[in-house]
Amino acid sequence: MKASQPTVKAGPASAKSPDQIHCVDPATRAPLGSVRVDSPADVDAAVARAKVAQKTWGKTSFAERRRVLEALLAYTVDHKEEICAEVQRGSGKTRENALLGEIWPACEKLRWTIGSGEKHLKPEKISSGLLVHKKARLEYHPLGVVAAIIPWNYPFQNLINPIIPALMAGNAIVLKPSEWVAWSSERFILAMREVLKDAGHDPDLIQAVQGFGETGAALARSAVDMILFIGSVGNGRRVVQASAERITPVVMELGGKDAFIVCDDAELEQAVHAAMSGCFINCGQNCVASERILVHEGIYERFTDRALELTRALRQGSSRDDLVDVGAIATPLQLEVIEKLVASAVKQGARLLCGGKRVHPEQGNYFAPTILAEVTPEMDISREEVFGPVMLLMRVKDDDQAVRVANGVSYGLSSSVFSRDRGRARAIASRLEAGMTAINEFGGVTYMVQGLTFGGVKASGYGRMNGREGLRSMCNIKAVVDDRLPLGFPNRIFPVAEGDFGRFSGVIELLYGKGLAQKWRGLTRLLQRK
Ligand code: NAD
Repeated sequence: MKASQPTVKAGPASAKSPDQIHCVDPATRAPLGSVRVDSPADVDAAVARAKVAQKTWGKTSFAERRRVLEALLAYTVDHKEEICAEVQRGSGKTRENALLGEIWPACEKLRWTIGSGEKHLKPEKISSGLLVHKKARLEYHPLGVVAAIIPWNYPFQNLINPIIPALMAGNAIVLKPSEWVAWSSERFILAMREVLKDAGHDPDLIQAVQGFGETGAALARSAVDMILFIGSVGNGRRVVQASAERITPVVMELGGKDAFIVCDDAELEQAVHAAMSGCFINCGQNCVASERILVHEGIYERFTDRALELTRALRQGSSRDDLVDVGAIATPLQLEVIEKLVASAVKQGARLLCGGKRVHPEQGNYFAPTILAEVTPEMDISREEVFGPVMLLMRVKDDDQAVRVANGVSYGLSSSVFSRDRGRARAIASRLEAGMTAINEFGGVTYMVQGLTFGGVKASGYGRMNGREGLRSMCNIKAVVDDRLPLGFPNRIFPVAEGDFGRFSGVIELLYGKGLAQKWRGLTRLLQRK
């Protein structure tokens, strides 16, 4: 990679220690080294440096910001193999997943922002309504320093995704990467800072503070101007509480339990392959994973047989030497969560069709691609996020039941509906309580349409990443009323005169009264002297 290597101390395992994170490769358990933990004072110092760097950056033209994003795009395209290798080492995912799930969306987001960012951030004319002598507009000013507290599932993508809109909107950014991918994050941040330096800008516009939950908590309490939190509901709640101290605005991108509805008239191959993507891309460690496959009775058996055939054929491994379809689970903690939920589902009556256990334990953190059939909404696994390679098959009788079950969880991130009847699919889609829906596609594809927003409802969070709303979430959206003509006459309110109340009552009736009679009465009251 282009970046210089940070000073590290080799460490034996991913154990927690106060001042170092010992990083390991989850696919091989090979130690990678250690990353220093930042203290709350280090966090405050990073934010202070970012504030200084932002002062100049916030005054740059859109053309200059585009030039920097173009440099980041060139860096990503030119170094994609090294980035993928680093992502693989840090997270245990496959090479192909690193390329398609991290590099490609990052490039697409850069392309979209370079092409459309200015359009959504330049001042926007708004009708001045009654104030005919004035003009009105919305202006999109940088907020200052954005904090992004991010998870481990997409080590490169989760980092660059908030960096792009933050820079385009004129902000600096301080990131808190997950402790589980501290090693690769350190390298990616160093590389991006080099890109900034080469482009003639202060590298402190992009910084990372490393550590465990305490470092994230310190960042949430620091003097940043906005927080984007991507992670679990429990920690999201803690960040909201911390943000209350300074009334810092937050965007919450939390977990999901996405419904994937397959109607009896669905195109079988299309639906099954999409479900395979929804369940097994990145080994299911995907906030928009298709966590519940709701299949109409009429197609349930055929769907199950075909899904089972394809799942049994999946090859699993580290993908360093062999071509494999699915990789490792990034953290041993997540492995335990998956194992526990699968075991409880079987105990509660689900039928295990394949997988259901750890594999290659001598090599790394692997959980076999799993299918559970006859899963019901009451089971724990139907309500809690699995975040692993597990396909849950749930039988539904009709569209109403499908919608009821789909909406019957606390989450509402993404969703998918499959039917050859587009009217039927759209009707179901419009009833789903989710931030995103894809028709006849895996719900995760909405991420590839960068003009769309990304985010959830209910416990999946609030606020939006991506698209126009994502860019503007990092702005002070300022309402401005300005002169249309330099008239200079005073708009005198004081002193209140005898008869003002009657005249203004007349104005209100004239403008908003119902029917000619009331408007006429308003006009006469307006013209009265007293
Ligand atoms: P997590 O909540 O454990 O950690 C996320 C980040 O928060 C990490 O950097 C962590 O160090 C930090 N953190 C932990 N405690 C904190 C605290 N008290 N204050 C501030 N920061 C704190 O989540 P995870 O296990 O890394 O990621 C998996 C979760 O993320 C899943 O629920 C998944 O659905 C969700 N996710 C959501 C999206 C989305 O866009 N909606 C995307 C990816 C992942």
